[in-house]
Amino acid sequence: MGNGIKVNDAMQTNDPDIFAVGECAEHRGQVYGLIAPGLEQASVAIDNILDGRATYLGSSKAVNLKVINKNVFSAGVNGNDVEPYMDKVFTYEESSKNFYRKLILRNGKLTGCVALGSWSETNRIHETIIHKRKIWPLLLVY
Ligand SMILES: Cc1cc2nc3c(=O)[nH]c(=O)nc-3n(C[C@H](O)[C@H](O)[C@H](O)COP(=O)(O)OP(=O)(O)OC[C@H]3O[C@@H](n4cnc5c(N)ncnc54)[C@H](O)[C@@H]3O)c2cc1C
Repeated sequence: MGNGIKVNDAMQTNDPDIFAVGECAEHRGQVYGLIAPGLEQASVAIDNILDGRATYLGSSKAVNLKVINKNVFSAGVNGNDVEPYMDKVFTYEESSKNFYRKLILRNGKLTGCVALGSWSETNRIHETIIHKRKIWPLLLVY
């Protein structure tokens, strides 16, 4: 045990016949409190139970929530993980329209995002974060 039940990249516990996935599992020091990582871990565990060789390398933390009827999206580096000396944070806000976007960039690459209000770009943003793609300054102009 650490913060959860420790598992290796095959989602096996220290007993190779016992697997752990989801919110109870700790992989490489990380416990995920979201549905999508649990499903990714489950598919790796199932493959290994069936004598496959799938490996789990961690999940991107992204969540789409509805809080008091408002859409909230968060992905990648956020909160305390933002390094003030290395990351650039761009914020766009229009509180009268319940509109808020925060983009976090490191070396020009998108590493995190928080958005309030509906946004059709969340899938594209999430992919950009996963692949650590560059965001050109022109794209940051609102
Ligand atoms: C209010 C709320 C809102 C959330 N919203 C989101 C969201 O919008 N998006 C998102 O990605 N995640 C969300 N989450 C988190 C998400 O629900 C969890 O990360 C996810 O359900 C974890 O799945 P799990 O299968 O690991 O655990 P669980 O869903 O907790 O499943 C564990 C199961 O084990 C059973 N169990 C417990 N003890 C025993 C026992 N001794 N014997 C047999 N069975 C047992 C429980 O009854 C339960 O059914 C939310 C969580 C909460 C509380």
